[in-house]
Amino acid sequence: MSGVFVITGPSGVGKGTLIRLLRERVPELALSVSATTRQARPGETQGEHYHFLSDEEFARHVDAGDFVEWAEYSGRRYGTLREELDRHTSGGRPVLLEIEVQGARQVRETLPDATQIFIRPPSDDALRDRLVGRGTDTPEQVERRLNVAGEELSAAGEFKHVVVNDRLDAAVDQLEAIVRGTLEP
Ligand code: ADP
Ligand code: 5GP
Repeated sequence: MSGVFVITGPSGVGKGTLIRLLRERVPELALSVSATTRQARPGETQGEHYHFLSDEEFARHVDAGDFVEWAEYSGRRYGTLREELDRHTSGGRPVLLEIEVQGARQVRETLPDATQIFIRPPSDDALRDRLVGRGTDTPEQVERRLNVAGEELSAAGEFKHVVVNDRLDAAVDQLEAIVRGTLEP
């Protein structure tokens, strides 16, 4: 048991919402802050939601081998810095990674003991409604994210744990059971 939990699944499925609720129930869980080259959304702050990097800064970290995993998603780069992960795991704290599917596949190779959880929407329509309802993406960005989602959903079978985020509290119950079952076997 490495104490690393990967939460993956399509954009808009509710990963961020589930993680916030899960961490209220299991406060010892840390959340890894990813690096990205996308622009900050209103209300997002540097170092809290993401480490917002320029293309050049991100490329330097790639060349230096600083990432545990990284991927291109919807024209932007996202990645987990080894230093960010070690900051938590070196003190023995369990940590969550909220990442897309290509990154989760890399973690399967680099950290094979990590617990991987795929979040599914109850339906394609629900995913669209959530992405649109979140109000953070332009209609073009929503379409791009839904196109990627089709591919991502076909990867669900690769994951040991699959949780359907239909009713929020039921999904958090399942996540909590997986995490506690791993941390306190
Ligand atoms: P992700 O982090 O996977 O991109 P978010 O956590 O931002 O997704 O959720 C996308 C939208 O869906 C948000 O507006 C959120 O409030 C909503 N949402 C999340 N889970 C549910 C659920 N179980 N039922 C209905 N709406 C949900
Ligand atoms: P968003 O732009 O909505 O914040 O994130 C877009 C996608 O990138 C989401 O599916 C999110 O899980 C993923 N993501 C966020 N951080 C990382 C990361 O560090 N690595 C990878 N591979 N994906 C990430």
